[in-house]
Amino acid sequence: MSWITAMPAFVFGLAAGSFLNVVIYRLPLGRSVVRPRSACPACGRTLRWFENVPVLSFVLLRGRCRSCGAAISPRYPVVELLGGFFALLALWIRGGDPVGAAFVYTFLMALLAVAMIDWDHRIIPDEISLPLLAAGLAWSLVNPALGPLSSVAGALAGGGSLWLVGAAYRRLRGVEGMGGGDVKLMAMIGAWLGLGLVLPVIVLASFFGSLYGVSLMRRGGDGRTEVAFGSFLAPAAGVCLVCGQAILGWYLGRFGI
Ligand SMILES: [Zn+2]
Repeated sequence: MSWITAMPAFVFGLAAGSFLNVVIYRLPLGRSVVRPRSACPACGRTLRWFENVPVLSFVLLRGRCRSCGAAISPRYPVVELLGGFFALLALWIRGGDPVGAAFVYTFLMALLAVAMIDWDHRIIPDEISLPLLAAGLAWSLVNPALGPLSSVAGALAGGGSLWLVGAAYRRLRGVEGMGGGDVKLMAMIGAWLGLGLVLPVIVLASFFGSLYGVSLMRRGGDGRTEVAFGSFLAPAAGVCLVCGQAILGWYLGRFGI
């Protein structure tokens, strides 16, 4: 990847990250992601164009609203930078295949949105998981390394296994442990990554979740805090997208398959 393709891709990614901030903030509230223009959440004043430049505005305004002085969350520039970084990552993964890079980028950005929204609201919007499930199945038709059979099987195994976990939890504890949103998210992830990576994603997400559980206990909690599993599934899926083949090779090799 030369800098001639990397630079515009990164700048495009920053702008897409800026749009993703709007999606993360508004979608769970049921508000339009197109209108009205972005405003300061504290004073409600509509932002001027120069206050809306990804990353740069945050740095120049020193993280504060120009009129009311309210602090702007550093999450906004972080999501913008991730948007830029994911654009480079997608190009790197798919090499000289622009259609593939666009697919991979869409998947990564959807995972980022899901992780943030689930963290904030404990919900995973169907508006993301269902269209992306369809997109994952479409991706399998143009990606011979995945293939439609593995994609469909991955969606069924992914959604099915989390549905079973939820049903078992409900039986044993009498409470909802796994939401329907998690089931649909894992079906979506299975469609994108294929059958072989369903188990690695769930194992890795549980590992991330347990790391978080451990850190909660260190802070004096009882470790049983209900966590948003989607916020761990999404980064696990991202990791498996990038190094899934290496993970698969490792664990198949271990068992001599
Ligand atoms: Zn303000």
